[in-house]
Amino acid sequence: MSARADKLMTMSQAPDSAVRTYIEQHRAAFLDDLAEWLRIPSVSAQPDHAADVRRSADWLAAKLRETGFPTVEVWATPGAPAVFAEWPADDPAAPTVLVYGHHDVQPAAREDGWDSDPFEPVVRGNRLHARGAADDKGQVFFHTLGVRAHLATTGRTAPAVHLKMLVEGEEESGSVHFRSLVEEHADRLAADAVIVSDTGMWAGDTPTVCTGMRGLAECEIQFHGPDQDIHSGSFGGAVPNPATAVARLVAALHDEHARVTIPGFYDGVTEPTDRERALLAELPFDEEQWLRTAKSYATHGEAGHTTLERVWTRPTAEVNGIGGGYQGPGSKTIVPASAMVKLSFRLVAGQDPDHIEKIVRDWTATRVPAGIRYAITFAAATRPCLTPLDHPALQSVVRAMSRAFDKRVRYTREGGSGPAADLQDVLGAPVLFLGISVPSDGWHAPNEKVEIDLLLKGVETTAYLWGDLAESWRHES
Ligand SMILES: [Zn+2]
Repeated sequence: MSARADKLMTMSQAPDSAVRTYIEQHRAAFLDDLAEWLRIPSVSAQPDHAADVRRSADWLAAKLRETGFPTVEVWATPGAPAVFAEWPADDPAAPTVLVYGHHDVQPAAREDGWDSDPFEPVVRGNRLHARGAADDKGQVFFHTLGVRAHLATTGRTAPAVHLKMLVEGEEESGSVHFRSLVEEHADRLAADAVIVSDTGMWAGDTPTVCTGMRGLAECEIQFHGPDQDIHSGSFGGAVPNPATAVARLVAALHDEHARVTIPGFYDGVTEPTDRERALLAELPFDEEQWLRTAKSYATHGEAGHTTLERVWTRPTAEVNGIGGGYQGPGSKTIVPASAMVKLSFRLVAGQDPDHIEKIVRDWTATRVPAGIRYAITFAAATRPCLTPLDHPALQSVVRAMSRAFDKRVRYTREGGSGPAADLQDVLGAPVLFLGISVPSDGWHAPNEKVEIDLLLKGVETTAYLWGDLAESWRHES
């Protein structure tokens, strides 16, 4: 990290009382509007809710027009529609920012263990409970009041940046059409930076900015031995056993230091800098608590790395499923006809999923015993993304967030993988993550909620962010 970025990061800026007053004045109407949206059960995975997902898109489009976006369009896909909005800055040289979120939600039913109807929002104390409150309607919606607070308190009639929003409707069902949607509309979506508001922070009292996400490559490998299960007494020990061959393959995947042995696997891996490792080590991480959350009894992973480094900054190879042969009660003395393994690889910045596919295929091919036929199939991969700590747009997010929270903002990464990487990939823009959700929000779980004070901190962060970005990051073309 440059000395300048370091200085900017620690430079504290006073929160703006006019922004806070504006948010306070509009808080009730904002929460009422959000509740109205949350009442629409936009469950993308369930075909009988398709009309609700469309209604959710139309509702959001109307609300974005009301917010002031001069261009708002509902974009059809072969599945659920997305909402696009655009509000140009007065200054043509201002940077362009694309906000990403989604308006569909996970399925939810009272009998799953909800204390109240998941689609009838209730406020209990500081918590707003409803499906989608945190994931992701609440976090999309804070941008609407945020941009209004930005305008009202600066006297502007347009945001300080060219502001675009893309809110998809299929995130909870795999974003099946997302990449082609982004490719189709790449010109309209062009941006200098993407801000993803579909993540969270470390904890309510520890605001954090996520700087990257791992990618994902997945495959299934089938090994076929005899044409059918055969007698182990008559033939066993004299023909190759596909289950043994799969087990040997899996056993060879890692060395004694839990490093992946596939030649070329670590090619290009972007190592965390010393500065980033030090920052990660400063997070208030309780490994015992983490293990309880992991429902596991010991940590295990690549030597020379901490647990957080392992889940955020290192690539992995994981066996997701393995099987073959007789699995019923008692015994069945056979040489099985086939065996299989499902593998997934979490990838970090610098790794190319196409390269990973090639080296996994090559590695497997050299490990198949004579007499075993095999097939290997890869699913569509997700690329990793990573924004350097000293990227000016990332530093703007950090400053805006620390102003809103009156706290130092720390850095995290995300070990999972998501469609945000498609935006980075197609648009060629860095992806930044601005989320205010906390781990207890219960994403995809019963009684999902959002902490109202944090939601309003999200509003406040974006009220500061656009001005900061426009000031500190001029267009370089
Ligand atoms: Zn989400």
